[in-house]
Amino acid sequence: MRFNTKVIHAGIEPDPSTGAIMTPIFQTSTYVQDAPGQHKGYAYARSQNPTRAALEANLTALENGVGAVCYSSGLAAMDAILRMLNPGDEVVATNDLYGGSYRLMTKLFSKYGIKMVFVDLSEAGNIIAHITNKTKLVWLETPTNPMLNIVDIEAICSIANEKGIWSCVDNTFASPYLQNPLDLGATMVMHSATKYLGGHSDVIHGCVITSDKGIHEELKFIQNAAGAVPGPQDCFLILRGIKTLHIRVERACQNAESIARFLKSHDKVSKVYWPGFEDHPNHEIAKKQMKHFGGMVSFDLVENNIKAANKVLSNTHYFSLAESLGGVESLIGHPATMTHASIPKEERLKVGLTDSLIRLSVGIEDISDLKSDLDTALNAI
Ligand SMILES: *Cc1c(COP(=O)(O)O)cnc(C)c1O
Repeated sequence: MRFNTKVIHAGIEPDPSTGAIMTPIFQTSTYVQDAPGQHKGYAYARSQNPTRAALEANLTALENGVGAVCYSSGLAAMDAILRMLNPGDEVVATNDLYGGSYRLMTKLFSKYGIKMVFVDLSEAGNIIAHITNKTKLVWLETPTNPMLNIVDIEAICSIANEKGIWSCVDNTFASPYLQNPLDLGATMVMHSATKYLGGHSDVIHGCVITSDKGIHEELKFIQNAAGAVPGPQDCFLILRGIKTLHIRVERACQNAESIARFLKSHDKVSKVYWPGFEDHPNHEIAKKQMKHFGGMVSFDLVENNIKAANKVLSNTHYFSLAESLGGVESLIGHPATMTHASIPKEERLKVGLTDSLIRLSVGIEDISDLKSDLDTALNAI
């Protein structure tokens, strides 16, 4: 089955009791047993739910894994992965991470004796100096947020695999339509399904897909033991969103390319971050590991201050000022005060995350409307 068929059919069977073509929302907390311990594979809904099971089967197919586990949010998925570690273990992670991932690692898990090392991995070889005999996990995010740097998944995962270290790629920004980290050697791929997988800005959800049966079992154990499960209606919404993933992401990529080129030629804009530009430092790696260059574009202003940024942010009409990304509607955001406010300013500036940096999640509206919206906002400076 090819990708565009998988999104609609993989793991989805008509409901055996009614023939319903759409997976029903099994809104139940428990299941009646025929005799003590004798049931149909479903005993209690924290442990198993058929709507969730259909979604997990579908996600397994989309990322070419052996199993998937769903959680109540992207960060709950990441939390489950980090719970597989023990005190004393070390994690090497990309340095410009999603703000919430950075917070979870530094504010919660460091307290349990897990050491986090943040490294600029835009050069794959940079990782070698940071691997010790305690390193248990390599955490990658690519494209990175919000600087849209690209990390060479295959090169880094092969270094990790050689040393028997797990690797996980946060694939939220690319979506499984553009990039499949397990095929490039990763042991796990994680998504905030809140973003492209759901695609309609109406649900919080997360998942992990793995190529390792043992890890799948351990994650299922943590899902049940810690209990951060998604509700059945949320699973239904993600299943529904996935059915149009390929078309939505394709259009978002086309619109993003058009906007990146438009911004690059705009006289109020000093720099545009988009991996599709030939002069992007890791353009060749992006071309190699992604189908297209994604729906995210960041840019900086000639007038390099928060006042100018606020002018742009408060003068768009179709680009709504909001956190999040990956929905059908375009969003505009200010990483320094919104998504990345929890990262200290010195840390932010090190990676180019200035006070005037603006991030766009490009939606699937008409491209002329989107461009003239940005033009009006930029000319308000
Ligand atoms: C949103 C996001 C997360 C967190 O996901 P939630 O569903 O909000 O918990 C993690 N990583 C990236 C890259 C994200 O964009």
